[in-house]
Amino acid sequence: MAATPIATLAISIENLGKSYGDFEVLKSVNLSVAQGEKIVICGPSGSGKSTLIRTINRLEEHQRGRIIVDGIELTGDLKGIEKVRSEVGMVFQHFNLFPHLTILENCTLAPIWVRKMPRQHAQEIAMEFLRKVRIPEQADKYPGQLSGGQQQRVAIARALCMKPRIMLFDEPTSALDPEMIKEVLDTMIELANDGMTMLCVTHEMGFAQAVADRIVFMDGGKVIEENRPAEFFKSPRNPRARAFLSQIV
Ligand code: ADP
Ligand code: MG
Repeated sequence: MAATPIATLAISIENLGKSYGDFEVLKSVNLSVAQGEKIVICGPSGSGKSTLIRTINRLEEHQRGRIIVDGIELTGDLKGIEKVRSEVGMVFQHFNLFPHLTILENCTLAPIWVRKMPRQHAQEIAMEFLRKVRIPEQADKYPGQLSGGQQQRVAIARALCMKPRIMLFDEPTSALDPEMIKEVLDTMIELANDGMTMLCVTHEMGFAQAVADRIVFMDGGKVIEENRPAEFFKSPRNPRARAFLSQIV
């Protein structure tokens, strides 16, 4: 099979390296993500998953290698970063909603101030996505009045309001009580079915099996194994992946 041309890739990461002082967090990571592809990233705590995800929308800077997002290379100069940021939505473990703003205001803030969208239009779009994540009735409440699962769905809706082409998730369900995990995963599955390009750090292996085109297993700052879910779960090639799976599945 011929390699996918760079231009049609959503994300291309080549020999990515990052250090904190002497500590190498990412060691020559390579990863290509096609448009519409869904990747699940897993691996032990401290393996560099969050750092990898955060370099993609430049919450972290890398020192070695290349990252190309939707055809734009992330470099030291800030040109193109705003564009990349607006094309890449991110959902964190701890929701990170603004507590003093209503749910609707949380969703319209960036479209109004970053995208310069007229307020009424931004509100219409926000309501559309709040309906999509099934909590339109919460629009005028404050984050503290919602359950964790509802807050995380707001965080997803808020990211979608910027009309991103790529969504990054960093353990979106790991801070949630078990009964709320499903409602967030269902929202993510719907998004996947809509064709969104997604990179999800998660240990929800049921989700991974249902949605992922590929599983990327990281350990010690490296991608140790990359495989289709069926193969990864049935017979992981790498002993460390095998040991990891035996602990969590
Ligand atoms: P994961 O998400 O897989 O648990 P992280 O990407 O958060 O891993 O972290 C990878 C490693 O980098 C860990 O050993 C962590 O302690 C270290 N690390 C993360 N952020 C920083 C930082 N800002 N300064 C120094 N070390 C960090
Ligand atoms: Mg992490």
